Amino acid sequence: MRHHFTIDVEEYFQVAALEPYVPRSDWARLESRVAGQMEQLLALLARHHARATCFVVGWLADRQRELIRTIAKAGHEIASHGWEHAKVTTLSPVQFRESVRRSKQVLEEIATTRVDGYRAPNFSIVQGREWALDILIEEGYRYDSSLFPVRRPGYGYPTGRADPYWIERAAGRIAEIPPTTLRCAGMRFPAAGGAYFRLFPYGLVRAALRQCERRGTPGTFYIHPWEIDPAQPRLAVSWLTSARHYGGLRRTLPRLERLLTEFRFRPIGETVPALARAHPSRREPAVLKERSA
Ligand SMILES: [Zn+2]
Repeated sequence: MRHHFTIDVEEYFQVAALEPYVPRSDWARLESRVAGQMEQLLALLARHHARATCFVVGWLADRQRELIRTIAKAGHEIASHGWEHAKVTTLSPVQFRESVRRSKQVLEEIATTRVDGYRAPNFSIVQGREWALDILIEEGYRYDSSLFPVRRPGYGYPTGRADPYWIERAAGRIAEIPPTTLRCAGMRFPAAGGAYFRLFPYGLVRAALRQCERRGTPGTFYIHPWEIDPAQPRLAVSWLTSARHYGGLRRTLPRLERLLTEFRFRPIGETVPALARAHPSRREPAVLKERSA
């Protein structure tokens, strides 16, 4: 069984939780650290013969073209994390279309490969924003990895499925590859990576991936380049944001070593064709019925 290793490629100052503290107009002035962080992650993945899906912020790709080419040449999949890391909940349909169209075009031009996948910043395709899926289909995306099937403040898609599935929409169908959750006492807990990987015991993510294996389905793990960088500039943020963003940074690399030793990983793009073969018809039950618009 190969799980999905995914990296949301963004700068330490582009994190959704830091939005109130770092205006976009400051981005170009701030120290860029992503190339050094990605160099470490790519070396780690290479040592373990693991390949990843990298959801890249378009704004960053445009300024770090060599980095994106290096990632693609190493055999990792390039996918979109939107143009400027804006949450879908803050965008109009027209703005969202522009963001996913522009990022796809620029990423494809730089990496000279097809871009099939999208992940919304902060998993922000929430209930009521399903129109985003139609736009992704219309813009040529084949899969989405934004519907986190949990109920959390600010994000989550509690009615989504835990394992990869097809979503039927008016515009066509799109594969949904949800971030991994742990099923425990009849409830689902986020266990896909990020802060849950840094701040909770390592056994959380491991148990969730083992549950996926018992169900015969790949799990989806995610991490950000800044999560392995304890030397990143510290921004003056609230106590809670600081604990979530800066907690456990030193733990991340050793834990990733362990994860990559215990599990095998491949990009999401290699799962989607198998999912299509398993469900060739468009007649499988649609999970997300289009509500009256
Ligand atoms: Zn992000």
